[in-house]
Amino acid sequence: MNKFILGISMCAIAGASLFCASEMNAQSNFDSKFNNYPTYNGDDLELTVNATGTHFRLWSPKAEAAIVNLYAQGANGEPLKTLDMTFHPDNGTWTASVPEQLYGKFYTFRIKQDGKWYDETPGVWAKAVGVNGNRAAIIRFNDTDPQGWETDKGPVVNNFTDVVLYEMHHRDFSMDPSSGIANKGKFIAMTENGTLSPDGLKTGIDHLKELGVTHVHILPSYDYNSVDEANLQLNTYNWGYDPLNYNAPEGSYSTNPSDPAVRVREMKEMIKALHDAGIGVVMDVVYNHTADNDGSNFELTAPGYYHRHREDGSYSDASGCGNETASDRQQMRDYIINSVKYWADEYHIDGFRFDLMAIHDTETMNEVAKALKQINPSIFVYGEGWTAGDSPLVPERRALKENVSKMDGIAVFSDDIRDAVKGHYSNAEDRGFATGKPGLEETVKIGIVASTAHPQVDYSKGANSKFAYAKSPEMIVNYVSCHDDLTLTDKLKKSMPDASEADRLAAAKLAQTIVFTSQGTPFMFAGEEVFRDKKGVHNSYKSPDSINAIDWHNKKVYADQFNYYKNLIELRKSHPAFRMTSAAQIAKHLKFDKINSAKTPNLISYSLVDHANGDKCNEIKVVFNGADHAQTVDIKKGKWTVIAHDGQIDANGLGTSNGGKISIPKYSALILAR
Ligand code: CA
Repeated sequence: MNKFILGISMCAIAGASLFCASEMNAQSNFDSKFNNYPTYNGDDLELTVNATGTHFRLWSPKAEAAIVNLYAQGANGEPLKTLDMTFHPDNGTWTASVPEQLYGKFYTFRIKQDGKWYDETPGVWAKAVGVNGNRAAIIRFNDTDPQGWETDKGPVVNNFTDVVLYEMHHRDFSMDPSSGIANKGKFIAMTENGTLSPDGLKTGIDHLKELGVTHVHILPSYDYNSVDEANLQLNTYNWGYDPLNYNAPEGSYSTNPSDPAVRVREMKEMIKALHDAGIGVVMDVVYNHTADNDGSNFELTAPGYYHRHREDGSYSDASGCGNETASDRQQMRDYIINSVKYWADEYHIDGFRFDLMAIHDTETMNEVAKALKQINPSIFVYGEGWTAGDSPLVPERRALKENVSKMDGIAVFSDDIRDAVKGHYSNAEDRGFATGKPGLEETVKIGIVASTAHPQVDYSKGANSKFAYAKSPEMIVNYVSCHDDLTLTDKLKKSMPDASEADRLAAAKLAQTIVFTSQGTPFMFAGEEVFRDKKGVHNSYKSPDSINAIDWHNKKVYADQFNYYKNLIELRKSHPAFRMTSAAQIAKHLKFDKINSAKTPNLISYSLVDHANGDKCNEIKVVFNGADHAQTVDIKKGKWTVIAHDGQIDANGLGTSNGGKISIPKYSALILAR
């Protein structure tokens, strides 16, 4: 999520401390002047090409002059021509036009303000860019559509709890030679069918189909700053949380970053291939900060306006990356809304994951969700309900986890289940419920009920949250690990140093079983199904491929693990009881068994009863044993189908049981149905 800090790490603390004493509670005097700026929300910002020519319109209300430079190339060379722009004080925009359609050409803007000419910028609305995103490009978008694009459509989602998210970085997934993929690290890696590991096992898109995830959540794929697109042979790696051009794809993921149309076309080809496989595409969006401060495109077009500041005029820094943007200002709010709408329309994106969402205000996020659902009701919007530092935006207005019930159609990550199941994110040695640490049972239960109000869950005992903050399970994304912090494999290694690998594999299965049987939407980090590690590196945002790339030999080495994950996803898909859609349903149909956690810690048992959410089964019994020894439960007598036991899982049944006393091995789940 965040390149300079532990991302979710610090953020989780900020998220948990909604009303901490250190909050700055007022907009700074420095910032209040921006309230009077005229705004403009037309669809012709920056560039329009039509029958009458090429038209530029830059929003820059306080500029004293503005020009457009036209170029033949995306880099180097002098301008072919420079156009003076005309100011429109009513809406703060500057315009210039030429009668020709300038397809194939590039442009930049420059403004003069307070007597100073600012550096060239491609603007904030460049939809196509030259190499390294320094100049905007004028291309024919119709020519970038792959065959069949007119009818291309992502999966229809009826309830967001039906979604299974798979978080993936382009390079991680395809870069290793063992991927068998030709276009390694590229968007079009996803268009290759029939790719195999050296052991003949499926990789690439075929692997995703086999695993059964419904949506791929791709790490930032807009044009980011850190990778030099002119020197791809250096194989520089970055997560991409350093936004440069929000509305154009990243060049290093294309086969030719110097041709502005190629990155657009190839990203669409990736999306089309995934859609054809029935898989949705979620984009990770990072509107909360810019890679650069004074040199950002926001600063170079409307100095001061798009970022928040402290009283002294310095950049405030809720992102931990040097600045934060100001969604509470109209032009920035409209920018975010129009940008996601653009990705949904032009690229058919199926979901948006908002990085450090609490830097944005709830009003903006509500408008984002509303605008997107008008385009396509299946679009899933979720985000990190925390910041990475303090913000001038008052906590009541922040899109925090604790405020999610004020945001219809938006979900937040549950750090409650994450930390309770595996141990604290930032303390590598800390264990969780699934690895033998007692006292976290109630917090795991908060995760199981998707942070909704439940008569048998005592929120006062929650480790991260003290109240039922979600009014619906569709507001919660459950996970135990993501790109931030240690992978689950590395976390288990550090927190269970004396345990056998078999025990760690068992604990990983248990941890994911808790996530995938819990109410809410499950989320997994790419490669965990093959026990992927990152050699103990927790903040691998710029680590080389040798740390980040998934080694597909693991698919054979950990075949049992892969099959378990695949069957676990299949189990969730085949039982609506795990995917309830309202808090009332959960309160009615999810019944915890009474267990004295002081006497038998690391044991949770519950039933999903009365054909929950239309399930074909009358009752599903779910028991987790996170202790380092076997524990026994007394199951109601009856004719049960055993679905999971001792590290094995099969939605169709492993066998039958008559109930009674059943021993559950250490670090494992028992699931029965009848
Ligand atoms: Ca770039």
